[in-house]
Amino acid sequence: HLTKRLTAIAQQVPQGSRLADIGSDHALVPVHLVQTGQIQFAIAGEVIPGPLSRAKQAIEAAGLTQQIQPRLANGLAAIRPADQVDTVVIAGMGGQLICDILTAGQPHETGIQRLILEPNIQEDLVRQWLGAHRYQIKAETIVAEEQHVYEIIVAELAEQAIQYSPQALKFGPYLMQEKSPVFRAKWRHRYDTNEKIMANLRHNARGDQSQKLAALTVENKMIQGVW
Ligand code: SAM
Repeated sequence: HLTKRLTAIAQQVPQGSRLADIGSDHALVPVHLVQTGQIQFAIAGEVIPGPLSRAKQAIEAAGLTQQIQPRLANGLAAIRPADQVDTVVIAGMGGQLICDILTAGQPHETGIQRLILEPNIQEDLVRQWLGAHRYQIKAETIVAEEQHVYEIIVAELAEQAIQYSPQALKFGPYLMQEKSPVFRAKWRHRYDTNEKIMANLRHNARGDQSQKLAALTVENKMIQGVW
């Protein structure tokens, strides 16, 4: 039984994909997808032995050692050409780490068609990386789970690099169109937090706070722009 976040990630994996779940930890996503018959082949990559053995145990317990291969490797090094992987999931990490893994692995050079990414922070960096490396964002979802909000970004290999606007990078090209209740709540909360910080800076802070105030003012203007 997957959580809301992992369900939303699994839903983006097309039927019959050859999947690599990088930073798989418990291997919940590949196990679920094979168990439900949506895919027949997956790699569960992990860079740390502890999580890798968790993945191994989950795969064995589910009786799926023929379909899912656990591999100890850094990032996309878990993928071999013979695997013919077409879809990569990288979830539950910071945006910078996801970008580092993608930069090291160069998936656009090896023909990985689809990336499903769930950065838990710095989503803008991930969108920027995608556009710069010929991955076009095709879908986005946003889900709330236990006080956290998660954004899932799906991108597919395209002919050319794509330049996203600052707004699209920050809010997500699809999410800012859709303006779902979760999206609105996320940015309303950020806006209100910024207002509180600005009030504190104006009244209590020592020294020159003008730069911080200016940055927060700009961010809140951007947020107002997508309401
Ligand atoms: N993907 C799962 C999820 O979304 O629930 C697990 C997320 S867990 C917070 C992050 C995992 O990524 C950890 O198990 C960590 O060992 C792994 N990880 C971090 N950097 C990695 C890298 N360069 N290559 C492979 N795995 C990595």
